[in-house]
Amino acid sequence: MSAPLFRLTDAQPTTELLAARQQHLRTELEKRRLPILVVSSPVNIFYLTGFHGTAGVALFDRFEAVVWVDPRYTLQARDQASGVEVIEARTGLFKAVGRRLKKRRARLAGYEDAHLSCAQFKNLERESPRTTRWQAAGGIVEELRMVKDSYETDRIRQAGHLTAEVLTEIIPGVRPGVRESDLAVELEYRMRRKGADGAAFETIVASGVRGALPHARASSKQLSARELVMFDLGAILAGYAADMTRTLYLGKPGLRVRNLHKAVVEAEREAVEAARHGARAGDVDGAARRSLKRRGLADHFTHSTGHGVGLEVHERPRLGRNEKTRLRAGFVVTAEPGIYLEGFGGVRVEDTVLVGTEGSPEILTPAPKEPWFIE
Ligand code: ZN
Ligand code: ZN
Repeated sequence: MSAPLFRLTDAQPTTELLAARQQHLRTELEKRRLPILVVSSPVNIFYLTGFHGTAGVALFDRFEAVVWVDPRYTLQARDQASGVEVIEARTGLFKAVGRRLKKRRARLAGYEDAHLSCAQFKNLERESPRTTRWQAAGGIVEELRMVKDSYETDRIRQAGHLTAEVLTEIIPGVRPGVRESDLAVELEYRMRRKGADGAAFETIVASGVRGALPHARASSKQLSARELVMFDLGAILAGYAADMTRTLYLGKPGLRVRNLHKAVVEAEREAVEAARHGARAGDVDGAARRSLKRRGLADHFTHSTGHGVGLEVHERPRLGRNEKTRLRAGFVVTAEPGIYLEGFGGVRVEDTVLVGTEGSPEILTPAPKEPWFIE
């Protein structure tokens, strides 16, 4: 037998795992009385079938699973996908879906409304039999993805440890005169050298007043003495992301900076502690917010506390005010409180953590938080 073309032995979910995910989806469809689901999000197709392409459409029902791909992806899909029939669609993916629905005399089918544009949905409808009624299925697969299996947590842990390592390694080079963008490039280069697919998102290095922009990109600005420098980075490995932020200071910090940093580290720790099996997503947000409020800083914390991490760097659940989703063992989420002061700078500390069956979650991005100033 020839060697698989695209499968890296350690970078592909096993047949058993894929079968379990497909079974979970079928159970969910039954619960919702939805006989068929058409999956068009490439990330969701990868999650359910193992096929890692950028285009394709899959159909799942109680008995069968099909993925249609265009001729560019036929070989790859046959090699990677498991538990599904792979069909090459030469005359259009939705046309092929429509033909299958007709053959099945499907009366009701769900579609991923968060992933299809209006034009794409109209096209899908046009290609389907008139007797098929379409139902918006929301984020049905995204909800399944919230609970990670051990294959996934292993990959995220690897990505997280790698992320922590690269930041720790470049710290000796963080000094006045160095450009933010050079540090970002160095971090991303090291991620790839260590086996990551790349950076899960554009690495943020924001120094001085630029740190007050929560999503600043790395610019050509040079670092100066007596400045805060915020690093927000994450590797992606075998398709799985990590997300971590640390904030450093160049020089000996004065009382104001010390207090800010201490407050954020404390808030982050309390949010992490709150991320337990059974807690609501909003409780984790509340823990960070209460902690900053005690120090009179809550008004400067302008975003939600965290988000799920997995195949996407931002996925469900959102850890924001009043979010009702209950965390369960196997959830991977971030805690990332931050304080942003216009004209001064920002401090954010973020870890990706794995919620366990009991006790505190496991920190998957274990870069030290101390020492945080470089004298
Ligand atoms: Zn994040
Ligand atoms: Zn981040």
